[in-house]
Amino acid sequence: MLPSSTVENYLKAIYQGQALLAKDARLVSMGQVASALNVTPGTATTMVKALAESGLAEYEPYSGVRLTAAGEKLAVLVLRRHRLVELFLVQVMGMSWDEVHEEAEQLEHVVSDRLIERIDQMLGRPTHDPHGDPIPTAEGTITPRHHDSLLTCPINTALRVTRIADQDRAFLRFIESNGLKPGQTVRVEARDAAADSVRLRLGNGAEITIGARAASKLLVDADS
Ligand SMILES: [Zn+2]
Repeated sequence: MLPSSTVENYLKAIYQGQALLAKDARLVSMGQVASALNVTPGTATTMVKALAESGLAEYEPYSGVRLTAAGEKLAVLVLRRHRLVELFLVQVMGMSWDEVHEEAEQLEHVVSDRLIERIDQMLGRPTHDPHGDPIPTAEGTITPRHHDSLLTCPINTALRVTRIADQDRAFLRFIESNGLKPGQTVRVEARDAAADSVRLRLGNGAEITIGARAASKLLVDADS
């Protein structure tokens, strides 16, 4: 059975839910799945049961769901298609990084393995998409990487932005206009817990203050 786009969207949502689980949690709640896909919990449960019957997920009534190895592999390959399409649209088609996510949401379900292989080759086997998300290999492996965010990183240390954990267009434009795209440098000068804000010194010398929520979505590494 060739996975339909609905099945693929569920696999992706559960996979991404698993990535956000607390250390001791094993299952993604049905409420989380339903809200990620914008459906009612009843609809989500029906679909998850069907995934379990196909051997793609394990469903535990009243607890939640997690993917089997087979489900995880399919989910990762959807992410591979999505991220390669995004990079292709930016690098080859000249589209802006804030407009490619919606396109990729559609194309991830229809591009063939052959076309994706060609895109991967043409782009030089890239490791990250325009937002800094890692691109899984054709074998379905994805390199886990620990990231600090601007909310958790050390203060007054040279950092490089590596990943933006939000695809909202307005947020991406805000990031771009402030020189905070992946690859750009930044340092945290201070955090103000009372104001829930983080003061940054940008690569161009400018100083800006952003909210804690925005800071938590900017992932960074030490600038070496
Ligand atoms: Zn995307």
